[in-house]
Amino acid sequence: MPSPVVAILTCIPSRKEPIMDTASKALLERAHADNVQFISLQLTDIVGAIKNITIPLHKLDEVLERGIWFDGSSIEGFARIHESDMFMMPDVGTYRVLPWTEGDHRVARIICDAHRPDGAPFDGDPRGALRRVIQRTEKMGFRFFTSSEPEFFLFRKNDSAQPVPHDVGGYFDFSPRDLASEVRQDIILALEAMQIDVERGHHEVATAQHEINFRYSDALTAADNLMTFKYTVKAVAQAHDLYGVFMPKPIAGINGSGMHTHQSLFDATGETNLFYDAKDNYKLTSLAYNFLAGQLAHARALAAVVAPTVNSYKRLVPGYEAPVYICWGQINRSALIRIPRYSPGREKSTRIELRCPDPSCNPYLAVAAMLAAGLDGIERKLQAPAPIEESAYEFNEEELQKRSIGVLPGSLDEALRELENDAVVRDALGEHIYRAFVRAKRREWDEYRLQVSAWEWTRYFEAV
Ligand code: GLU
Ligand code: MG
Repeated sequence: MPSPVVAILTCIPSRKEPIMDTASKALLERAHADNVQFISLQLTDIVGAIKNITIPLHKLDEVLERGIWFDGSSIEGFARIHESDMFMMPDVGTYRVLPWTEGDHRVARIICDAHRPDGAPFDGDPRGALRRVIQRTEKMGFRFFTSSEPEFFLFRKNDSAQPVPHDVGGYFDFSPRDLASEVRQDIILALEAMQIDVERGHHEVATAQHEINFRYSDALTAADNLMTFKYTVKAVAQAHDLYGVFMPKPIAGINGSGMHTHQSLFDATGETNLFYDAKDNYKLTSLAYNFLAGQLAHARALAAVVAPTVNSYKRLVPGYEAPVYICWGQINRSALIRIPRYSPGREKSTRIELRCPDPSCNPYLAVAAMLAAGLDGIERKLQAPAPIEESAYEFNEEELQKRSIGVLPGSLDEALRELENDAVVRDALGEHIYRAFVRAKRREWDEYRLQVSAWEWTRYFEAV
């Protein structure tokens, strides 16, 4: 395992004398006014973990001008040992004070982009991969907007090996059964303090399971927000002596946690939703159907990126509101893609909801792959199959075949094999990330495959 600590080699690259722009100057003033003592400079590694370098505030002007060197080979999948020197450049607009830090430890974070020593964007940076697909989308005249619904569990801290759910509430439950409503409120307050526009929060179906939704935004901001959301939930849970858990299926036999992603394409101005057609039954344009068909066509490979852990495939099973079958519909929550109902006057909200992603994914790579799959549908003018409005969980093998409904991979192993054969999804990641991702995930699968589980003991100990 690479060290979680990013080694700082030295602070100042020897490039020509830079001049600080007005945005950077304004940021410096703001950080002083906010009484921030430290800046957390953040990157996301290939498997979706946040990496951070902390600098004292007085170093910020230098870093804004020239970036900061780090050893890329210490980050999972980032760089090989011989190409390890790279620098990160702060994306000034992402400055936010972390509201749970105070006094001498008050911290603001800035999300960064990784660069090679010659200044070119580093192709192993997941945020860079999303930027590349977004640029391609803009060249086609579109802007991509998303909003995701990350679900999570709250568990009590305890000494037993079993997770202990924090409450016994259920869907939409209200306090006092829902002991976590105060925790959720604290999460919402923290998110809003970081300029994430929260729409609602509620208890989810499973015991101790919750969901908080935020307003849609451009895809890069949405992915940044998901990273922020995850560490905010963990920090607030920690302050309540709880664990915030994003594992897709923490407990067998009850619902797991998804990260359904709502998506739409707008025109270049960002004003007109190109998915909305008043005349269509589902209020979708042919462009939206092409996009949807692209995601259905690539669904099996997409799964490896949007549901990328061994545990993800314990969620994608029949009976728990998670998708299994590759079909679409409106009222059908077993479908892979759902079309949320249109309400008059809300043309801008017309969208499609992909339901297989889960919160163990790297949001930058997940969104890049979803977008590339949809664009491929547009480029090849793929036609959507007929909608399925009954529960696909009830279909038997014969019925599935008759309706030509495919099935999502049943394991990480199967999903990785699909990814290896899907040039569109591979291209979305780029060769560097693709290779590093498959290497890391193959290791994860092999580690799992070599375990002997409690289930095997119970099932076979005396029986064979
Ligand atoms: N928790 C379910 C899942 O795994 C989704 C429940 C819902 O429809 O919000 O995807
Ligand atoms: Mg939900």
